[in-house]
Amino acid sequence: MGLCFSSLFSSPSNPNSSSLKTPHFSATTTASTSSGVKSQFSEIGSGSIDGGGGSQNQDEDKIVERPNLKVFSFGELKSATKGFRSDTLLGEGGFGKVYKGWLDEKTLNPAKSGTGIVVAIKKLNQESTQGFQEWQSEVNFLGRLSHPNLVKLLGYCWDDDELLLVYEFLPKGSLENHLFRRNPNIEPLSWNARIKIATGAARGLAFLHSSEKQIIYRDFKASNILLDGNYNAKLSDFGLAKLGPSAGESHVTTRVMGTYGYAAPEYIATGHLYVKSDVYGFGVVLLEILTGMRALDTKRPTGQQNLVEWVKPNLYNKKKLKTIMDARIESQYSFKAALQAAQLTLKCLEHDPRNRPSMKEVVESLEGIEAIQDKSKESKNRKMRSAAIQHPQQHGRARQRVT
Ligand code: ADP
Ligand code: MG
Repeated sequence: MGLCFSSLFSSPSNPNSSSLKTPHFSATTTASTSSGVKSQFSEIGSGSIDGGGGSQNQDEDKIVERPNLKVFSFGELKSATKGFRSDTLLGEGGFGKVYKGWLDEKTLNPAKSGTGIVVAIKKLNQESTQGFQEWQSEVNFLGRLSHPNLVKLLGYCWDDDELLLVYEFLPKGSLENHLFRRNPNIEPLSWNARIKIATGAARGLAFLHSSEKQIIYRDFKASNILLDGNYNAKLSDFGLAKLGPSAGESHVTTRVMGTYGYAAPEYIATGHLYVKSDVYGFGVVLLEILTGMRALDTKRPTGQQNLVEWVKPNLYNKKKLKTIMDARIESQYSFKAALQAAQLTLKCLEHDPRNRPSMKEVVESLEGIEAIQDKSKESKNRKMRSAAIQHPQQHGRARQRVT
């Protein structure tokens, strides 16, 4: 693809920045949204990130030199969300609240609710200590990246103390909502949808890793995978993203940040961050997809709270695998496909980062799993067709009984 990075990390422009408070960079923890655990840990790293030089790529998947983002005023975003009214609230994360808003499709000026295009507007929590740096990372990374499996950033607002981000709206919300929120109105995700989502998210990560100056995403988790109307997965939240090692280096050293349950062991132990640390996070999400259980859940009995530690031994064994697969999708998958997915999960969760596959290999493997599924569907159809040809009377009778 020949991607490259140019002049990263110049500050986004702020027409009224004079009164912006100096951002705090102290250590902080954030409560997780659902299981009531403090699952996100973060200590703000000090290193600045330099981009390499190079030319621009004109493909659909690209990294652009200057972000093509609209700079919004706070008033505009207030008006687009009906004054951040509670009925427009989509969700809340470590950064702050996310609201649904409406903008004119052409001008991106605020529009009346229900008209124009729908957007998601993230509003920085003013108490958030890590917020400014994350906001800046999001603008600098996501503002320059374009790929079907990355959420699109449309613009930002930096008005006095107010920091906001404006994204394309993804109607099906996050993978986390679908996998874990037991909402009787939401059908559990089918096996096919799960594999499609895993493949899409893997393509997003593979794209980041394939750029000339590799991008390490660092916060791969189910809540950061958003879904469009057709269950296409898009990665969001580049607040913790880092550029990969520079020439001659094997890793980037940072203060440890990320989410408990998803972060790679070498990163937690040493602060050494590799592209392959993202592959570990991917393995954890794949395990959540297969089992329908959270990476970390303090509501589970002792010994079962950390999903990887608890169920990893069951992935090696065919019989045991059946016991940990999500019961809500039983009978939807061929066992061969489930077994391959379990083996792929194990490879991603290898302790030594060098033994983990690249995300490109992960994508290929998932495409293979998708193909098994299609083949098994085809062969079922074929069997049914040939049964109908061999026993036409039986099938005729069956139909008659129904009608
Ligand atoms: P977290 O990743 O910790 O959930 P975020 O601040 O990224 O926190 O988002 C909070 C929630 O808002 C998400 O879980 C999701 O349900 C919703 N959300 C965020 N961005 C979008 C978007 N672009 N479209 C639709 N919903 C979104
Ligand atoms: Mg998120």
